[in-house]
Amino acid sequence: MSRPLVARISVSALHHNLALARRVAAGRRAWAVVKARAYGHGLEHAIAAFADADGLALVEFDLAVRLRELGWRKPIMMLEGAFEPADVACALEHDLSLTVHDASQVSWLAEAQPRRRLAIALKFNSGMNRLGFGAAAFRAFHAQLAAMPICGSVSLMTHFANADLDDGVAPALDAFDTAVQGLAGARSLANSAAILAHPRAHGDEIRPGIMLYGSSPFAHRNARELGLRPAMALDSRLIAVQMLDAGDAVGYGSAYVARAPMRVGIVACGYADGYPRHAPTGTPVSVAGRRTCTVGRVSMDMIAVDLTAVPEAQVGSDVQLWGEEVSIDEVATAAGTIGYELMCALAPRVRVESVR
Ligand SMILES: *Cc1c(COP(=O)(O)O)cnc(C)c1O
Repeated sequence: MSRPLVARISVSALHHNLALARRVAAGRRAWAVVKARAYGHGLEHAIAAFADADGLALVEFDLAVRLRELGWRKPIMMLEGAFEPADVACALEHDLSLTVHDASQVSWLAEAQPRRRLAIALKFNSGMNRLGFGAAAFRAFHAQLAAMPICGSVSLMTHFANADLDDGVAPALDAFDTAVQGLAGARSLANSAAILAHPRAHGDEIRPGIMLYGSSPFAHRNARELGLRPAMALDSRLIAVQMLDAGDAVGYGSAYVARAPMRVGIVACGYADGYPRHAPTGTPVSVAGRRTCTVGRVSMDMIAVDLTAVPEAQVGSDVQLWGEEVSIDEVATAAGTIGYELMCALAPRVRVESVR
């Protein structure tokens, strides 16, 4: 028998969420962001679900080549560009668009043998201060790139530090607008939060990531009210049930002690599967279709759950760690993190199934 833990990926939910992004930012070109193996959902599922996207965007060159091998023929954009000169050769071989955020990348492009023209996205630093050029360098490199035989087109790109806040994009957008004034090229700005909250930032191209996977980019608006459908369900079963007396403890460190007699279920899922070890007692979980919570410490392969509210639960009962019944964002909040991290941390040992 195999371990009952399985990640169920819904291609129709992924498809629905991309359609929603496209509806919200109607008329814009849409890059579906699929870095980190489509935020843990798998590139095969992404290709199946995102056929309507204008392109896919990621940061890993080996996975970009994999997308080509899987049959993706539309554009692919490398969001951090080349890490070394060999990446430019790879981009030329597989027709990958490159972000340019540093002078070294411009030299690598200048030195490459241009067997075809590449679409370049020139990155402006609008206040995040991770990648990108300030206004003067941005305009200088724009002119330089536009004159290079290897450059097919140069789009104008930035990434917001605070798009999840109400007034989060205004300063960045003003800085961007000033820097790109009069320059030719498509404007590419909006991540999920900007797509959903800041129509002014839709530009010509959008780059949705987290919303495609059915998680909210906002701390105070949940995925359901945004119209998003969860694309990943992490499902398992109870593999044991224990009766605790008052004063009995469960799990490592005896971190949870029963105050009265209670039933506790043991779930086949632990931190080695990607469930957050920091999830405290009280983290929501669904057992036999009813919401309850975890008790005690998360261990490598197991979690304990309170069965007080689920008297019918027994060994073999269904458990959902996150998905339709318990949103990944609720679990993330309880564990002091964000849905992004939980999705991306899904461990390779977890069996993956596609569902409609
Ligand atoms: C990851 C990423 C995105 C997508 O961001 P979400 O918050 O997941 O929508 C967009 N643009 C760039 C440059 C990224 O790195």
